[in-house]
Formats: sequence, structure tokens, C-alpha cells
Amino acid sequence: MSEQKEERYEESQLYKIRHSAAHVMAQAVLEFYPETKYTIGPPVENGFYYDFELPEKITEEDLEKIEKRMRQIISGGYPFVKKVVTAGEARKIFAAQPYKLELIDGLEKGGTDEYGNPLAEKPEISIYQSDTFTDLCRGPHVETTRQINPSAIKLMSIAGAYWRGDEHNKMLTRIYGTAWRTPDELKNYLKMLEEAKARDHRKLGKELEIYTYDDEVGPGLPLWLPHGAVIIEELEGLAKEMERKAGYTQVRTPHLTKEDLFLRSGHLPYYAESMYPPMEMEGTKYYIKPMNCPMHHKIYGSKPRSYRDLPVRLSEYGTCYRYEKSGELFGLMRVRSMQMNDAHIYCSEEQFEQEFMGVIDLYKKYFDLFSIDKFVMRFSLHSQAGLGKKYVDNERLWLKTEDMVRRAMTNGGVPFVEKQDEAAFYGPKIDVQIMSAIGREFTLATNQVDFAVPERFDLKYMASDGVEKTPLCIHRAPLATHERFIGFLLEHYAGNFPAWLSPEHVRVIPITDSQNEYAEATVRQLRDLDIRASADISAQRMNAKIRDAQLMKVPYMLVVGENEAKAGQVSLRVRDGSRADNIPLAEFIARAKDRISRRAAEL
Ligand SMILES: [Zn+2]
Ligand SMILES: [Zn+2]
Repeated sequence: MSEQKEERYEESQLYKIRHSAAHVMAQAVLEFYPETKYTIGPPVENGFYYDFELPEKITEEDLEKIEKRMRQIISGGYPFVKKVVTAGEARKIFAAQPYKLELIDGLEKGGTDEYGNPLAEKPEISIYQSDTFTDLCRGPHVETTRQINPSAIKLMSIAGAYWRGDEHNKMLTRIYGTAWRTPDELKNYLKMLEEAKARDHRKLGKELEIYTYDDEVGPGLPLWLPHGAVIIEELEGLAKEMERKAGYTQVRTPHLTKEDLFLRSGHLPYYAESMYPPMEMEGTKYYIKPMNCPMHHKIYGSKPRSYRDLPVRLSEYGTCYRYEKSGELFGLMRVRSMQMNDAHIYCSEEQFEQEFMGVIDLYKKYFDLFSIDKFVMRFSLHSQAGLGKKYVDNERLWLKTEDMVRRAMTNGGVPFVEKQDEAAFYGPKIDVQIMSAIGREFTLATNQVDFAVPERFDLKYMASDGVEKTPLCIHRAPLATHERFIGFLLEHYAGNFPAWLSPEHVRVIPITDSQNEYAEATVRQLRDLDIRASADISAQRMNAKIRDAQLMKVPYMLVVGENEAKAGQVSLRVRDGSRADNIPLAEFIARAKDRISRRAAEL
């Protein structure tokens, strides 16, 4: 159950297939447009791309002929042949390819790879040839083009991309493709993409009136509409309930603080790029907070603590602000203001394992509740090379805390994979990736161990032997931010929220005006019982009212006509298509109350 071996994507057959398909695509493009300057073409998640400087503009219609030519090349069964060359030889081979020459310079100097990415060691320079195409490349590739399944490739789209991602450079043409082992895999992937499009949280967020953006408010600063605010309330209610039961206490902290606090925490100057610029008041600089931790540390430190007080678990749905480049903002997934399901647990070393597992248990409870069946826990470790740079320079403490986490996870029977060199700067962390109902991966929660910052804040407790010690701190945010989590939930449920999360539980629909009064009385009765209900007394026909409620994905519709009104009954139409005609209102209320109070998945 403990540590799992995870095949690195870079070493997988799929990676080789995609990398090889990128070469084949480049060959086809060069055949159609011989003046093309080609740059780089790496595999990416689910596929590959290649960036070209083309002699003419191409459109998505041109992809068809390129794809057709790719299939011909593939059927040729050309081997991929590697050759190690000197920089001089490479320059000769790529004499007409200025981008490659630039990359060769980088390789020769060391410090970058053939894609121009930073690299620790100085690499050897190698080329790969297949049929008429030669690329500056380290591999790996499949043995021959025949190992690419011609029925499992597809060119997807064209986009603009700056050379080296720098807007001062030339805009290149990027062609995206996807490649799989089998036609079935390709089919499933395309189906998933289509489903993801229909479930796009930006589309659903608009249709279901969850959130909006406004130019005058600013990019990345979502305005939560009434429906979104209800979901937030419910999530916060859930988190507070679970945290109360798990022994947390709630705190609240301001949105801005003096510069000194972030200097002490170490966020300044290192994290300044991700913070909003400071404002000056009374000769002091103030920052709006990018995270809540330093303030929670101050609350911990606000009075003397003894071992009897530990663990101290402070939680807060704190609103934080981070500066993200405007080009990187994306719906609710990448924003500039965010409300985080934050908490900090201060504990002794002896308490660590139990506390850490308590957090993992909380995750599992949430996953269960939201029907998240697939998740991966990634345990991110430090690297020796990064000590003193990316990571606090104390190898002994790194090894010790990493060991504590590993032991806790193993003892708790939690499957996890280890990732070198991806820790936080103050300690190891667990990143939790969850899959939505259509199998898309989201990184949501993190659970981090901090053995460094409590010391910077001079946090102490009196141990049982009368000696002052520094507590460990666990940072955790299982429900991530409201922004990310609601974005995820929109996709996961395709907007069909379980009743407890639905912005509107019940829509009462009178068949004619004569039942308006009964409809409104029903709504008052439901609201009294804390059921979110409204009546549609518009002038529309009944069918149009029903359609409206369906578009808003309201879980329960109560249709009321003359008979229902007379008998104090309702005709229930459930979102899943089931119905129950002429039932006593009390019967429906019992059902709705039950589903809502249990936070049930079924309606
Ligand atoms: Zn290559
Ligand atoms: Zn924190």
C-alpha cells in the first residue's frame, strides 16, 4: 500500500510516440512549406506541438493535408536514428535554421537544453534523423515511424506563440496534435474533450449565474453572483462543521498588513513578484496579503503556550490576493483574489503523525462527500542541489521531516508517489490531485509541513520537561480556494449539483394564475424550513417555466394546478427525470430535508 512506483511520462512509450509524431509533423510541414524555419516541438500533456516560422499564413483547413501526409510518412516505417555531434557539425546541419543555431549556442555554452529550458549539466549535442527530417534532439523516440499508430493521431489546432514565450520576439505558428497508442484511446480522448467543453466552468458559470467579471472591477477579480454566493456559504458551512468536529478553532485576520510581517515570514523579497505592489500610509508600507500564514503565526504567538495547549489548530476562510499575469488568468482557475480553506496546525513532533493523518482523513471525507473516486497524493521532497536556494538550508531537518511524513502515510495506508525537488521552501508537502467525473486532473489541495517558519516567528511552547521548544506547523487547505473548487465542481457535476449545494432547491410552478397564491404560500412554507425556494409567477406558459427551471438545473420542481391547490398537494418533477404526482407537500418536504441535511449525492 505504501509508496507506489509511477512511470515518468518522459520515459513512457506514449511520450516517445508523441515526440516522434512531432518530428513527423515537422517533416510534413517542411514538405508543404520548404521555406519554414522550425523551432521546437516537445510532447505535452495529451499530445505534442511544434512551433514554426512559416512563409505564409495557414489555417485549420491546412491541417488536413498535413495530417494525411503524416500518415504516409508513418507507413514508410522510417527508423529514428540518433547521432551525437559537435557544436560545429550541428551548425553545419542547421545552417539555414536560425532558431536551431540559437539553441545550439545554448547547448554549447551549457545551462540550457535543446528546448532552451534551464538545465543543470552541460548536455551532449545530438540529432535524430528519420526519413528526410533531422532535428536537434535528445530523444527518446520510438524505433521506427511504424510504432506510431496512424489511426491514433490527430492535428488539433493552430495557435500563435512567441519564440521562447517572450512577447518581444517573433510570433510563431504553433500546431497542436495529439497521439495515442490505439484508435480507441484517441476516440476516448476526443470524447472527453467534447464533454469538457460542455462542462467548461466558464460556460456553466455564466449560464447558471455563478460568477461574472467586470472590466471596471478588474481582471482576475471575480464577482460572485447570488447563486455563487449560496455555493460558497454551503462550502464554508461544511468546512466549519468538519473543522469544529476535528478540534479546530476559527480566527479572522485583516486583508492587509505592514511590510515587516512579510519580511519576517520570508515572503519579501522572494515572493514580491506574486504580490500586489505595496501602498504607503503614515510612512509605512502595507501589503495586501497573498496568504494567511504569517497572521496565524502571530495569533499563535499572541500568548505563552504550553505542551498542554498543543495542538493548536487555527482555521480561517481567508481572502488572499496574488498577482498573476493578465495573460495567465483563466476563469475561476487562475484568479487574483481568492478565498482559501486555510488552517494552520501547531504541534509537537510527537503529535505530528496523528495531526498529519487527521488532515489526510479530512481530505478523504471530502472526496467521499463529493463523489471524487480518483485522486493521487504526491509527496514532494527537497533536492540537495536546491538547499540554500529553493529550500531552507538544513538538510538534517529536511530528511527528518520527510521521514516523518513518509512514515505517517505508510502507517496510515495511504497510497502516494514521491516527487523529488518539488517541495515548498520551508518543508515537504503533499499535493493532492483529483480527477473530475470525466477524468480531467485538477491540483487542488495541499498539505505542507513547515519546520522553518515557526522559528522565524519565534514561536514557542513550554515542553513537559520545562524546556522551550519550537512547534511544527502544518499548512493545509483541503478544499483549496472557493474559486478553484467551485470551478472544479462545475465541471465535475456538469452543473447538476447535489441538492444541498444547489443555489435553488425548489422551483414552484403554478399551472395557471389561479394557483399563484398557493405557489407563493408553498414557497413561504419551504423557506421557513430553510429550503431555498421560489415561485415562477411570470406570465409564461407552464412548459416555458419548466424549461427555465431545467436550464438552471434546479433539482426539484413542484408543479401545482387546481387539484394540487385544493388538496394541499404538489406534483414533483425531479431533475433526474423521475416524478411523483399529487403527493402531500409534507411528503416532499421530508424528502428534501433528508437529502439536504445528509448532503446526499442522490436527489
Ligand atoms: Zn525530438
Ligand atoms: Zn499557510
